[in-house]
Amino acid sequence: MDDKEYVGFATLPNQVHRKSVKKGFDFTLMVAGESGLGKSTLVNSLFLTDLYRDRKLLGAEERIMQTVEITKHAVDIEEKGVRLRLTIVDTPGFGDAVNNTECWRPVAEYIDQQFEQYFRDESGLNRKNIQDNRVHCCLYFISPFGHGLRPLDVEFMKALHQRVNIVPILAKADTLTPSEVDRKKCKIREEIEHFGIKIYQFPDCDSDEDEDFKLQDQALKESIPFAVIGSNTVVEARGRRVRGRLYPWGIVEVENPGHCDFVKLRTMLVRTHMQDLKDVTRETHYENYRAQCIQSMTRLVVKERNRKYDQKPGQSWPGESQVLPLLLCRPQASLKLVLGSPQPYYPPFPLSSAS
Ligand code: GDP
Repeated sequence: MDDKEYVGFATLPNQVHRKSVKKGFDFTLMVAGESGLGKSTLVNSLFLTDLYRDRKLLGAEERIMQTVEITKHAVDIEEKGVRLRLTIVDTPGFGDAVNNTECWRPVAEYIDQQFEQYFRDESGLNRKNIQDNRVHCCLYFISPFGHGLRPLDVEFMKALHQRVNIVPILAKADTLTPSEVDRKKCKIREEIEHFGIKIYQFPDCDSDEDEDFKLQDQALKESIPFAVIGSNTVVEARGRRVRGRLYPWGIVEVENPGHCDFVKLRTMLVRTHMQDLKDVTRETHYENYRAQCIQSMTRLVVKERNRKYDQKPGQSWPGESQVLPLLLCRPQASLKLVLGSPQPYYPPFPLSSAS
């Protein structure tokens, strides 16, 4: 290219690439669903690590009254010089008790707490090294033994779909025949639609993408819910060593697309949609939380001011419609301004009940 015509901004993507690689990436994945559906096995198979070394399984008696816990496992993985800090959030005890009413609540609260923490950090003085613990994706495991979704599945997904990207998973697909898998997938998709559940929507393909990519993308969208098989053992099949499950009648291979959707799920999570999952979390779920939070704060502030100014007749104070735009642009500064306090104000958790 003629040097005179070349300004140099074409190198911008390289600069961004170098900077991102240097900084490293992070991703937080939540797994939820009844215990025993193969969540830990699948996570280990997905990332080829042993994240559950210290897991303690409870006996039946202990599980009767068990409440839902939230546990976190983090690993740093590196591939071709690219570092990924992967955090897995597990929900042991979910759906295990005799009475499972509202057992999704601790999970929803956990997700909100991460948003709240991020909101505080973002409004604070040192915004350079914010640790982002927001949950980017939730793999929700559906039992292969039921007839579609159970009431608990519907309740969980409806309670969380506005907070996190839900990707439904049909667990232990090796327990079903291919036609059973198709029927179950169809039923689950219908029920998701019927109950108005908003699972993670794959973005539309760009029109300039090549045909192969478009076909791959279409296949990915049609596979929902992903029917998966997990295994942490390597077996020998047709002279090859593969990750699979050995049965008296044969071997089921985890990474064989003819046997299950494991590869599709891994491709989606890691290779094609990880960044989109993070973008949707930031632009949709976190933004919703932030707007609600600011609205609740505004109401509180206006109420408090009105109460004070009611005591001083003749003085007026801006109403909610004037305070809200201010708060949306500069939450912390505006709050100081409105409250006249050097300390930022944080409403008590949960915010919805504070309004
Ligand atoms: P979690 O409680 O949901 O984390 O489930 P685990 O990963 O501990 O798995 C529970 C049991 O199911 C273990 O005995 C696993 O070996 C088995 N398991 C895991 N994945 C699969 C699968 O895809 N198919 C079958 N048939 N069994 C599985």
